[in-house]
Amino acid sequence: MAYVGRFAPSPTGPLHAGSVVAALASWLDARAHQGRWLVRIEDVDGPRCPPGTDHLILGQLAALGLHPDEPPMWQSQRYEAYQAALDRLQALGWTFACACSRSDIEAAQPHLGRPKQKFVTSVYPGTCRHGIQDVHGSTLKVARAWRLRSCSARGEDITLTWIDRRMGMQTQNLTQEVGDFVLKRADGCWAYQLAVVVDDAAQGITDVVRGEDLADNTARQIHLQQVLGWPRPRYWHGPLVRAADGHKLSKQNGAVAVDLRDPLPVLKAAGQVLGLSPTGDTPATWLASAVQAWQAGLVA
Ligand code: GLU
Repeated sequence: MAYVGRFAPSPTGPLHAGSVVAALASWLDARAHQGRWLVRIEDVDGPRCPPGTDHLILGQLAALGLHPDEPPMWQSQRYEAYQAALDRLQALGWTFACACSRSDIEAAQPHLGRPKQKFVTSVYPGTCRHGIQDVHGSTLKVARAWRLRSCSARGEDITLTWIDRRMGMQTQNLTQEVGDFVLKRADGCWAYQLAVVVDDAAQGITDVVRGEDLADNTARQIHLQQVLGWPRPRYWHGPLVRAADGHKLSKQNGAVAVDLRDPLPVLKAAGQVLGLSPTGDTPATWLASAVQAWQAGLVA
């Protein structure tokens, strides 16, 4: 199958050292496979995307010499496709309206013997799976979000296994470790999980290359692909750039926009994270050498 890859930034801020690694890895993998490389602006979470950041990112990619093979896609122009997918999931009996607030979900955790963990989205306890329940037994609640069932119609667990091209065999019990997850949020925004699956399928993506911090989302995305009867891309989750505190580099812990007045050192730093030390004294020659190094790694 002809290779199609993508870089899918959320335009919440300009590219930083970490997002450049993801962009470079996906570009290199596409070029090393003589494939096509697409850019998708994942701006479904409108309130978190400052105006103009999308074009800033596209300019940064161009300055690095990473040029997409087609005009970029904007998720904010794709709402009809997400609605069509939600309608189909609904017709297939996989979705339900949910009235739970975050605190309802948190409150249900101790009863299930699951202590609340920091930075981990709480497992959905299944409260509204069989109709909107008033968990407090007082007022009738209104639907806030749409969720996808994470167990079979008979209530059996769904466990997914996939081979990550870099991390090897991965497995997740979706029912126990994630629970029914959100497709459309209470504030009306489309959820990342649904948008990414709809667009990967629409764009014919064969290979998802992205940072390791997203690996945990893969089972949810494979579950959606399976329910919708869509093909499963291959996955490669790459190394992260760590901040001084050891956490993934992000805007919250001091990631700064890369300085692209001189793109070569930025490319070299990203190459180092990927374990590559190509030669070249211009971005174009460095990138050509990096493609060869990446290709050698594929056959090694
Ligand atoms: N938009 C996501 C992010 O910037 C990445 C989505 C993906 O590569 O699947 O974190």
